[in-house]
Amino acid sequence: MEVARKQPEHGWIEVITGSMFSGKSEELIRRLRRAQIAKQKVQIFKPVIDDRYGVDQIVSHSDMRIASESVRSSDELVRRVAKDTEVVGIDEGQFFDPHLTAACNTLANAGKRVIVAGLDQDYLGRPFEPMPQLLAIAEYITKTLAICVVCGDPANHTQRLVASQDRVLVGASGLYEARCRHCFDPSLAEPTPEP
Ligand code: ADP
Ligand code: ZN
Repeated sequence: MEVARKQPEHGWIEVITGSMFSGKSEELIRRLRRAQIAKQKVQIFKPVIDDRYGVDQIVSHSDMRIASESVRSSDELVRRVAKDTEVVGIDEGQFFDPHLTAACNTLANAGKRVIVAGLDQDYLGRPFEPMPQLLAIAEYITKTLAICVVCGDPANHTQRLVASQDRVLVGASGLYEARCRHCFDPSLAEPTPEP
């Protein structure tokens, strides 16, 4: 009698995280390209909120590009993943809802390699949900650092250059720069008090 052999299980979560300009999108695109070269079925997603570069591409600050699908929620993302997809790439993880962690778990449990890139901290240096939760459950974590534009040290912070207390402020260039812990000054984002 033939014994039904359990299918080998694949599937895990990789997180690429760090400040703005640290190369998260480049690293995500690099890994996804290699999967495509290996002829794996790849699907790539980003949240609708980040529409700076048009709707259907992930674009790095160094102008590397890869086609993507835009989704409004992590539930929509899971629904859009085809059964035979082997690799799922997700950019701007910090702009997703708290359900992203469960969504990535579901996909990894279903045998998919899930690669998520996202900011680990906001403009005040606070952990940027849901990235900390994702880091806790990921098998692999890559922390990327930029170059501090003030002193040239490795930069772990995203410095907001304009006064705004919105946690999410995307759009025009010149709003942010990379800074190390010594040159980072969150008070620059505080509105100047009325005289
Ligand atoms: P992230 O997704 O982390 O914001 P990207 O992958 O989009 O980063 O962009 C990384 C690229 O940004 C670098 O290869 C470099 O060309 C450019 N860049 C601009 N400013 C900086 C900086 N201060 N430090 C490092 N790279 C920078
Ligand atoms: Zn510095």
